This record gives sequence, structure tokens and C-alpha cells, in this order.
Amino acid sequence: MIFDAHIHLPTINKTLYERKEILLKDLKNEQINGGLLITAYDDFSKAQEIISTINDTTNLYVALGFSPLIYDANDWELLDNLMLNPKVVALKIYPGKEQYSIRESNVINIINLCIKHSLPLLIHTGWTGRQFNRPNLIANLAETYPELQLVICHMWYPDIQFCYNRTYQYTNVFYDLSSLAYDSTDEESITDKLNRIIPITPERFLFGSDYNICSIRSHINMINKLTLDDEVIKQIFYLNAIRLYNISQTKLI
Ligand SMILES: [Zn+2]
Repeated sequence: MIFDAHIHLPTINKTLYERKEILLKDLKNEQINGGLLITAYDDFSKAQEIISTINDTTNLYVALGFSPLIYDANDWELLDNLMLNPKVVALKIYPGKEQYSIRESNVINIINLCIKHSLPLLIHTGWTGRQFNRPNLIANLAETYPELQLVICHMWYPDIQFCYNRTYQYTNVFYDLSSLAYDSTDEESITDKLNRIIPITPERFLFGSDYNICSIRSHINMINKLTLDDEVIKQIFYLNAIRLYNISQTKLI
């Protein structure tokens, strides 16, 4: 059983319905049983439509991407309402892709919405714009808001060890392993680090691929190569994600 906790719709020029159908076919080909579909921060105008498009599936859920910079009061109200939809299981912000500090007041508004609706907040980290999503900043958030569940996407790649060391003390911090298998020249060093850190807090790691930017297959291979107990592999592949996002295993196909 595998739940991919970090997927995006294919970015080709087709209707939302067609893009969803391609996604479902690709998930099936890779034997993925369910997934968390993450929308882009500048796609919020399509959020309602995206939720409706996946409404006929039992195994797809949405993390709504949102920007604290570009939306007005109506959008904030819509966001609050959409968070009541059972398909919406998280929010995501993209500091670094957008240039803002995660300490600014509009981010605090997003955090307050997550706390109000008891939904986790995903944060894009690493890669480009790293100074906007430093582990120290996330550690501060985790400490200030112990009731908020935070998911660090990409573990501030490539400095995943530093990211973990700085944040693992906070039991409300989770890690999605998406994009870590993107660069195959880095494989050995990433595998070594994951083998060392995952056993410390195995209940807080989530399998994710970052489809369709990254390959699902190479991310599955990365997890299968880890020298961890079978029970821990199960936690990473789906148990942690369905617990965090409150998804019933019976919904996975
Ligand atoms: Zn992504």
C-alpha cells in the first residue's frame, strides 16, 4: 500500500478533467493507492473547480496552495469555506517560490486558519529561495504553535540533515521526502542520511514523489533501498500520511 503525499496535476494544456484522468492512470501504473494533490499558490482561483474534479474519486485529497501576498478578503473567506470540504485535508504555502518571510502577518492568518480547522500546513523548503524557508524559521513556528502540524516539504534539500537536526525536537513537525530522488548523483548521500535519521522519529516521515516534476518510480526505489524495518517502511509509505491527514485506509484503492 502506498499513499503519495506530494503530487501535482500534470501541467499539460488539457482540461482539468483530462489532467486528472492522466494522473489517475499514472498512479495506477505505479501501483499508488491514493494521494495528496497539491495545488499551486497562484491556482487558488481554480481551487473550487479542482476539488469538484476529484470529487468522484475516493483516494485523492487536496492540499490547497495559497499565497499570503496576492489574494484579497474574498479569497480569504473562500479559503476558510473550502477548508470545510472533506476533500481538503491541508494547506500549502510556498515561501521561496514567492518572496516573503514566514513570520509576516498574513502567514500568521494562514496558520490561524489551519489551527481553526485542525488541518496541517505544508511548507515548501530548499531548492531555490532557501533563505525564505530556513529550518530555524520553521522551528520557531513549531515552537510558537505547538497545536499546528507542520509538514516540511523536501526537507530543505539538499541540507536534509541540518533541517532534521534543527526541527526534529518538535513533535508537530513532519517531513515529506518528495524530490529527494530527483538528482541520482546524490543518491548515496541521501540514502545514508535517511537511514540514520528516520529511525529516530519514524512516525513523522511521509512518502512523496513530487509527480509530475519528479518520477514516482525513482522515489519508490529510494524508499525500498533504505535498510529499515518493514514496519517503518509501511509507516513511510502510507500509515503516517493517512493518520496525519485523517484519511480512512478503506478509501485507498
Ligand atoms: Zn511539489
